[in-house]
Order: sequence, then C-alpha cells, then structure tokens
Amino acid sequence: MKIMVSACLIGRKCKYSGGDNFDERTAALLRGHELVPVCPEVAGGLGVPRRPCEIVGDTVMNDRGENVGEAFRKGAEICLEKAREEGIDLAVLQPRSPSCGVRSVYDGTFSGRLTGGSGIFARLLMENGFRVVDAEEFASGEER
Ligand code: SF4
Repeated sequence: MKIMVSACLIGRKCKYSGGDNFDERTAALLRGHELVPVCPEVAGGLGVPRRPCEIVGDTVMNDRGENVGEAFRKGAEICLEKAREEGIDLAVLQPRSPSCGVRSVYDGTFSGRLTGGSGIFARLLMENGFRVVDAEEFASGEER
C-alpha cells in the first residue's frame, strides 16, 4: 500500500517542541509499505520549534493568542495536493494534533483536555474521500 504518514511518526523532528513522535509499533507495521511522509504545519510555513497550537472555534490559535489558521489551512491544502498526486491508499496520522488528529483534538483551552473532532489536515483528507486513521487505530489493527 502507499501510505501517507505524519512525518513525526516516523522520526522526523518536526513537532512543535522540536522533537518527534516516533513509535516503534507503528513503524514496524509501516515497514514494507511505500510511505509518503508529510508535516502539514511545516508545509504551511510554520517553523520548528513553534508555539503550541490548538483548534479554537473555526480557526487555530497558538498559546500566545495569535491566529495561525491560515498557515494550518495552507499546509493542509499543500499536503492534500500531494496525497492526490501520489494516489495514496491510506493516511496514518498522529493522534490529537490540531493538524493530524483524527478522532480527538485538544479543546482549545491549552489545559490538556481533549474533545471529539479532527485536525485541519485530517478533516480535509476525509472530506476529499481519503481513508484516514490515526496511529493508535492503525497499531490496534482496527483498520487492517
Ligand atoms: S503537523 Fe502532523 S506531522 Fe507535523 S508535527 Fe504535527 S502531528 Fe506531526
């Protein structure tokens, strides 16, 4: 399968903190597939490291109260285009991220609380008909 994957999941240090979200179990399951890594936040022009961001209403804010929604939307569009060009079969994304979260995201209060819903990029992929799962679903075998 050709799988689009959150770049931080396979060890790229593109997380807001400058780290990654490498997960051995997910990496092992991805082995043997053709991977298309993307980081929509970096694609949208945000740097590493960057301020933590959460979805607030219909946009995305950082923890200083700055509206970064445009960069999130731009990065999501760029990565959607890549998914189309590559003809991916599946996207496996990092849970809970304001871009890549699939089933839940932080609730916009910067207090660590989660709420149901998807990140900007995950939602755009789903709206355009792509199969999208988060790494936890993928590792649990729910999607294979
Ligand atoms: S935007 Fe997605 S790929 Fe980039 S660091 Fe966040 S979770 Fe990882």
